Amino acid sequence: MKSLQEVLESWEAVIGLEIHTELTTLETKMFCSCRLSHDDEPNTNVCPVCLGMPGALPVPNRQAIRSIVKAGLATNCEIQKRSMFYRKHYFYPDMAKNFQTTQGPVAFCMHGHLDLTVEGEGAKERPANSKNVTWSADKSSYSTHVRILRIHMEEDAAKMIHVGGEEGRITSATESLIDYNRCGTPLIELVTEPDLRTPEEARLFMEKLRRTFLALGISDCSMENGSMRCDGNVSLRRRGDTALGTKTELKNLNSFKSLHDGLEYEIRRQAEVLEMGGEVFQETRHWEPSRRRTVVMRVKETADDYRLFPDPDLAPFDLSDEFIDECRAELPELPEAKAARYVSQYGLKAADAAQLAGSPEAASFFEASVAEKPVASKPALAVQVANLLVNDVAGYLKSAGSTFADTALTPAQVVSLAGLLSEGAISAKQGREVVELMAASGKDAVAIVDERGMRQVTDDSALQPIVDEVIAACPDQVQQFRDGNSRVVGFLVGQCMKRAKGSGNPKRFNELLVASMAAASEKEPAQAVPAGEAEPKPSAPVKAPAKPAASAKPVKPAAKKAASEKPAKSADGPATTQPPTAKPGQAAKTAAAKPAKPAKPAKPAKPAKPAKPAKPAASRQKAAKPAAKPKAEEPSSKTAKSSTAKQTAARPAAAKKTAAAKTVSPSKPAITTKAASTSTKPKSKAKSTAKVSEPKSTGAKKPAAKTPRTKKTAASEPDTSKE
Ligand SMILES: [Zn+2]
Repeated sequence: MKSLQEVLESWEAVIGLEIHTELTTLETKMFCSCRLSHDDEPNTNVCPVCLGMPGALPVPNRQAIRSIVKAGLATNCEIQKRSMFYRKHYFYPDMAKNFQTTQGPVAFCMHGHLDLTVEGEGAKERPANSKNVTWSADKSSYSTHVRILRIHMEEDAAKMIHVGGEEGRITSATESLIDYNRCGTPLIELVTEPDLRTPEEARLFMEKLRRTFLALGISDCSMENGSMRCDGNVSLRRRGDTALGTKTELKNLNSFKSLHDGLEYEIRRQAEVLEMGGEVFQETRHWEPSRRRTVVMRVKETADDYRLFPDPDLAPFDLSDEFIDECRAELPELPEAKAARYVSQYGLKAADAAQLAGSPEAASFFEASVAEKPVASKPALAVQVANLLVNDVAGYLKSAGSTFADTALTPAQVVSLAGLLSEGAISAKQGREVVELMAASGKDAVAIVDERGMRQVTDDSALQPIVDEVIAACPDQVQQFRDGNSRVVGFLVGQCMKRAKGSGNPKRFNELLVASMAAASEKEPAQAVPAGEAEPKPSAPVKAPAKPAASAKPVKPAAKKAASEKPAKSADGPATTQPPTAKPGQAAKTAAAKPAKPAKPAKPAKPAKPAKPAKPAASRQKAAKPAAKPKAEEPSSKTAKSSTAKQTAARPAAAKKTAAAKTVSPSKPAITTKAASTSTKPKSKAKSTAKVSEPKSTGAKKPAAKTPRTKKTAASEPDTSKE
């Protein structure tokens, strides 16, 4: 197969995403008062509503609607005051009532957008001549506008566990277990317009959405646990063409890497098929990361297959302005705005600011740190604090399987460590050590450094004798320095550090070495070098040693005698007209400020939750379940509008009935706090809906369902649906 870049030179990939997010931070399910929890014993959080018992009536969860409205506001959507729930019919054991409650053509949130900035290697996936994006002057990055068609509310299905099959999949499984705890979990589905053109853009969109939802606090957005999951649609067309090609849908994109790599593979696969004169079929494919390929799952159904119609048990919504304004008022500062503020307010590097702002936990730790007193009196410390958090602390948390939320480290400790680092009292490498010691002991950084004698010696009277020893012991290197090779200073600093057993301050060693060698060469010009060449070349900055040996022992103050021999401050001559300390000092500083990134701390890693009972991948893949989206029903904006009329027409009847059924007053979405299960309610209340909602008792057959999915036959179609 051709590479992605090769393919995208002649083909344009058209990508759309469908992203499901469970509203995990809520207390209860979408239409009943059952507790939301992934960790409880299977089938303990269930009731007649989420088990689809006859006569049970749903009551919408007000908090869930609050969450979706916030999600819409944060993604620039128009909040639709009037919308309603629909039934999407299918038979599968993971949804006991045989239909999923979802939304129709009009969702709570419509027509939003997110803007992305694509830079670095990922920007190269877009051919540089492509249009509709804004390129930077040097063409190394671009920004693109991604429209969001809608965000609608629906409910999750139960979790199925297939036993005995390969990798937990239904194929060749001997039996399937069902856990209805998840059934009825509030789920929001965001559907983008097909505006994405590269796998990198898809990945960035997903990342940005995840950061946004995390900031809103509406979900834990865990991709590994499946509370945020993504399907990708992709089709190819020749560059310049406007008609869309046939698309395939990719499932199982359960990490940012899978999302990128799965789409990349699928684009290359389709190009190969098309270039060989073949045909791409509209089908759902499954990405297998371990084998790096996609395989066919099923051929796509259409919305007609689902017999989508307005749910007669749920009244249409009529959100009030006050309700929407309340949601708006509760919106937090979003990650991008926060990062921009960190840059302008604290002078952070853009990358550090983005990393901190992208995680609510890291951001609040940072803000608590800069609220500490020492930072108030020395604002520049904020940069050092951010640097520590993004690198050493994040690295430590990852290795310890901990997070900013549950770490024992305190903002005060981090600030105290930042103070020591900025004074040069300890090396960056020692800083990393101190992070671990602070977390383990709860002690202040200063106390730890003093207790262990880690403080670097900066006293010249102790350092100069070592410098003199090293200069005497390394005549060759000293000569190289005088010949203009200023890089050799790094080696000499290393020698000094060795002799000081790691406790000398490398930056100060560097300065003393340069000063001493320059002064010495000046005294003995005859020795070898022409005067001019003795100076360090300004173009070659002197580097501090890359790896100062870091022993915790303090330097043994070497014989004081040398102190008096301290070379004159080279008052004149070539050495001072070109101050040797300026460069080296600077170099040492930057070296110290940028500790080699250890194991790329990246995101504050989630602790691998070993406690969680194995959640076979297959349970999330819903191998044979119909796609969870009202696809064709999802209209382009045009049809959405035209069908609004239809919906309005349908509304009075439904509204009347549901009003009688006392589900929820349209203007006041009820709260599912107590016993939402209406199985206990007087039958008469449900009377008017009974005709519609009563299940055809054609078969209260047990879900023997070994067959993946029953094909819908005319006989099985609900005859109540009037379209
Ligand atoms: Zn329930």
